[in-house]
Amino acid sequence: MTANHKVLLQDLPNADVEIRYFDDDQSGRYRSWKMTEAVAREVTAWWRDSNSKNDSQFPLRGKTEPCELFMVNEKQVDVHALDRLGRRTMMSWSLPSDVVEKLAQEYVCDGKASEGLMHERTFATVINCMDGRTQLPVIDYAKQRFLVDYVDSITEPGPDGILSNTIEKFYIDSIRRRVEISVCNHGSRLIAIVGHHDCAGNPVEERVHFEQIKRSVETVQSWGYGCDVIGLWVDANGEVHEVS
Ligand SMILES: [Zn+2]
Repeated sequence: MTANHKVLLQDLPNADVEIRYFDDDQSGRYRSWKMTEAVAREVTAWWRDSNSKNDSQFPLRGKTEPCELFMVNEKQVDVHALDRLGRRTMMSWSLPSDVVEKLAQEYVCDGKASEGLMHERTFATVINCMDGRTQLPVIDYAKQRFLVDYVDSITEPGPDGILSNTIEKFYIDSIRRRVEISVCNHGSRLIAIVGHHDCAGNPVEERVHFEQIKRSVETVQSWGYGCDVIGLWVDANGEVHEVS
């Protein structure tokens, strides 16, 4: 999606929503789709799930209580509303993937819109090591880098080791649940994953840390919260560096 494309979600009576897709800022013209909020939520939940499973085999299909979903290619999502017996109704929509992606960011928390407007104070999220030496340098760095008032800290021993390793599913899910609270309840749109020098929880070589931090960034991106995700390295002097 280019910078000028904008998606707005308008609440309508009777638990309906209208999705408005603006091609540019100037003209005010937009394309729109009206559907029930339940369908809009289902579409975005499905989008996040299929993103996080790294599905790339088209056609993709999904079926849930309120709707059936198809993607013949990466450009478009076709949605058919179903009745209570699971039969197709007359209602269907073809949504550009750009629009669904943007919706998934809005509906990141099962319908609790994570609009920054709801929050007077701004938050970012760091997934840091429990190591006491890394706390203040990372919080200070994140506040300046992200221009936020507060930094939510999620700590584990060596989180870069955990998030880069799919075997650690229990711990990954635990981190993900805490990230979700920060994103949904505090409206954080920025997440940093930290690795550091002399990590007792993840005692690997520095170059392995860097690889793990990069893979961890990909893991967190795959959760589909639509946040900016970066990797950070805290060196032997307590200096924080971005890993890219
Ligand atoms: Zn550590």
